[in-house]
Amino acid sequence: MTQDGNYKTIQILDPATVNQIAAGEVVERPASVVKELVENAIDASANTIRIDITSVQGGISTIRVTDDGCGMSPADAELAFAPHATSKITKLDDLFSLHSLGFRGEALASIAAVAKVTLVTKARSSTGTAGTRLVVIGGILHEKRATGAPEGTNVLVEELFFNTPARKKFQKSLNTELARIHGILEGLCLAYPSISFRLFYNNREQLATERTSQLLNTITRIFGNEYARELLPVSADLPILRISGYISRPALSRKDHGQILVSINGRYITSTSLTAAIREGYRSLLPRGRFPVAFLSLSLDTHLVDVNVHPTKKEVRLTKEKEIAESLRDTVFGILRHNNLIPDGTISRQEHTFTEASESPVVPGVAETSSRYEVKISGFGKIAAPAVSETHHFLSTEPTHAGTLSTDHRLRQTEVPVMDSPVSGSVPPMEVIGQVGGIYILAAAPDGELIIIDQHAAHERIFYEKIRRIVSTKNAQELLIPIVIHRSPKDAAILRDLIPALAKEGIIIEEFGSDAFLVRAVPAIMGKCEGQEIIDDLVSDLMNTDLERPLSDRERITRIIACRSAIKAGTVCTYEQSQRIVNQLRAMHTPFTCPHGRPTMIRFTRAKLDEMFGRT
Ligand code: ADP
Ligand code: MG
Repeated sequence: MTQDGNYKTIQILDPATVNQIAAGEVVERPASVVKELVENAIDASANTIRIDITSVQGGISTIRVTDDGCGMSPADAELAFAPHATSKITKLDDLFSLHSLGFRGEALASIAAVAKVTLVTKARSSTGTAGTRLVVIGGILHEKRATGAPEGTNVLVEELFFNTPARKKFQKSLNTELARIHGILEGLCLAYPSISFRLFYNNREQLATERTSQLLNTITRIFGNEYARELLPVSADLPILRISGYISRPALSRKDHGQILVSINGRYITSTSLTAAIREGYRSLLPRGRFPVAFLSLSLDTHLVDVNVHPTKKEVRLTKEKEIAESLRDTVFGILRHNNLIPDGTISRQEHTFTEASESPVVPGVAETSSRYEVKISGFGKIAAPAVSETHHFLSTEPTHAGTLSTDHRLRQTEVPVMDSPVSGSVPPMEVIGQVGGIYILAAAPDGELIIIDQHAAHERIFYEKIRRIVSTKNAQELLIPIVIHRSPKDAAILRDLIPALAKEGIIIEEFGSDAFLVRAVPAIMGKCEGQEIIDDLVSDLMNTDLERPLSDRERITRIIACRSAIKAGTVCTYEQSQRIVNQLRAMHTPFTCPHGRPTMIRFTRAKLDEMFGRT
């Protein structure tokens, strides 16, 4: 049928059209051409790979990838452009023990179907000096001849999408495309530190890595020293897989998971479950909505990995995915636990945000690639001379009797038998010096370290862990007079759903007419000082945490109770009270951050203090 309703005979599509359609799956955009060509160079066991991109009039005009890999014989060079021509597998079974990046034999054919491709290649072991030069335009071989060439392969792609105008029109801006290319290459540089990569844009170098056996060298090269310092090494030999690479300390986080790079047997993959597993390993060490940085290579039995899921080969199917994800999560958590995660007071807490290309173009020649990371100081920068009035709060306000009692009450709720609990090895014993501004506790640690503790964050952490330890239903405390709360119909609907989850945590709520609720009991841990206000707050907090969907109801409720119950910033504490907070904090499982991921303490080492005072 045609649009005008008339009958039309069925025809088999000619090979050129078939190739163009197939090409759409592999070469969606210029960046995918770069990816395929560079992957071919990697498969050809190149030591050095050079990528040249040029542009005119806001679009990419040429892509050239040069490698010193194994090259091709004249016959193979021509065959390489045929659809489904590959040297990497011979039968389906080979897919299950795959070590190469390519295997579908589609890339060169697809690229040549929608562009002009010039390939010059010479096989490594070939005798004589001659290489082969081939020109294929829109899938048709235009030229094949012998030529002088160095060993390796050089592929030049011009006039991309010249015969598929629709695809050309849908290209995003030049900067977006360049950013994608950068992203792909960064990923490949990190997956193959033993290969030297160089990226040139309009003849200016954009990215360069040296051949190295140390991944950390490549990371430093790409992201800079500061960044590399925030990474912790990972090396785990587990029954089901081997994990190696680096994960970030919580101080280095991002607002998306763009820098969680996971490779499986040398192939970069996207896997929601593995990314989630890494994030889960951080538990509450990261603020909500923040993601860690991770460069991890997993080695596992090739039989557990099926890469033949999608033409771009980025997705894999894993047998035993659940076990793999769990091992990954536990490994990450274990490493974070055993490292001293008290942020250093002299390192600014930075947010490394990958600048989107639209905001800041990859300007040719703007030197350092690391400069593309904006450094935002989001707190704890270098200490500026504080305003005098602020420093004088040093216990200048005497705690009132009532205030002391209420603080005592709250501290009692979280009293942990410090002696019995395993004191987290990495937090040193601390002796309180005083309190500043009703917010920060100053403490001295051995070796002349100064530690500053955020009392609210610290107490929140203590509450949180305490709540997680108790079986809470038994700990509900009936209110003498139930509190009535009214909610809008929408909020009421959300609250209704949460009633069972709240009950488990000791908050007993009942429906009370339309859109009204009765609060009958609150967790004993909250004490009896809770009025209408705190319940209202708690409920609206719960309503407003929709963004935190990945968290379980229990986790959300626990965090809110901890936050609401902990002593507030601005609460003046006595010396004893401060010391109790500090001692309790030391006994925590994860003492370094509050449940939302803010730091509980910052330290200044003796060496740093000396340096700041010019004593070194
Ligand atoms: P695949 O990589 O899936 O095998 P391609 O279309 O990308 O398919 O490449 C087809 C074949 O061409 C490869 O299997 C390989 O033998 C050869 N080839 C492509 N690029 C190179 C290169 N840079 N160096 C050596 N051989 C290459
Ligand atoms: Mg390939």
